Amino acid sequence: MFNKCSSYLLTISLLIIAILAGCSSGTSTTSNTEGAKPEKTTETAESKPTETGGEVNIYTARHYDVDQELYDMFTEETGIKVNVVEGKAPELIERMKREGESTPADLFITVDGGILNTAKTEEILQPIVSEVVDKQVPTELRDKENQWVGLSTRARVIVYAKDRVDPSELSTYEDLATDKWKGKVAVRSSTNLYNQSLLASFIDIMGEQEAEVWAEALTANLAREPEGGDRDQAKAIASGVGDVALMNTYYVGQLATSAEAEEVKVAEGIGVFFPNQQTSGTHINISGAGLVKHSQNKDNAIKLLEFLTAAKAQTKISQANFEYPVNSDATLPELLESWGTFKSQNIDFAKYGELNPKAVEIANKVGWK
Ligand code: FE
Repeated sequence: MFNKCSSYLLTISLLIIAILAGCSSGTSTTSNTEGAKPEKTTETAESKPTETGGEVNIYTARHYDVDQELYDMFTEETGIKVNVVEGKAPELIERMKREGESTPADLFITVDGGILNTAKTEEILQPIVSEVVDKQVPTELRDKENQWVGLSTRARVIVYAKDRVDPSELSTYEDLATDKWKGKVAVRSSTNLYNQSLLASFIDIMGEQEAEVWAEALTANLAREPEGGDRDQAKAIASGVGDVALMNTYYVGQLATSAEAEEVKVAEGIGVFFPNQQTSGTHINISGAGLVKHSQNKDNAIKLLEFLTAAKAQTKISQANFEYPVNSDATLPELLESWGTFKSQNIDFAKYGELNPKAVEIANKVGWK
């Protein structure tokens, strides 16, 4: 029975819960309400951050272990505590918009130039004023108004089954859409942002019509319906499903250094080819950080950006994750070194965002699932 007394007790209990919840949200500026992964902080010793070097709050869509290692290194060097909220980029952008001036976020970190540009056009960022960052990162890997700065780049390349394909047979992305590769191409779904940005780059470079012709012919050449992530495309060709695949370079490094022998074997069986070297260049994308407009720890945020773009952190990102550094003083891991240098597309990353709806429309139209 639900009598008056139990109703009273329930009210009291709810009040206590509400008070406790209020307390915890008052002390934690990074409460995670978006259903993202549980937040991580670099809290190591003292729980009162302001007694040391203060703090900096990051909303990030990057999901790599090396990022946390770098935040820990930064805290160790500066005493500045790093609070991290992980989530999907569009959700984090929505969250910052909703939080407005009271957002705890100081930095927004994500992959994809289109998303970085979206954060800019949604007016949640502000210019990063730092001579150190400007010196460490070339202009083409920063936003024109310096609202975001690149942290790493990745190339979307052709990988091939070494036992069946001679690299001399490979040339361009366009070539993968010719009859020569009928039933031999593996690529993940077009719902993935990596492919949407690839297609957006083609719309910019070759025009909408040509990009559609390419997407349609590529889809007709697929060895199987798109499934899995980038690594699964390498696994497909290693197991004989298709001869060539499109994937991001860093996944090749991750396979090669995997704890699973099977994955190492996959990496050994594939070669990396940088397409379009005589023409428009290989497609690259960027991972970067934007300074949040309503940042309350701006100085610390800029210090962290200076740290992350310095040669030491850049070398670590590249060595651990096989991404390309944005700072040319960084040391590449042997694997990336072995692939040599390559010509990349000369493109404004903002285009990936601007042309994303068109890319999605084309992919749907041609039936690229
Ligand atoms: Fe990825």
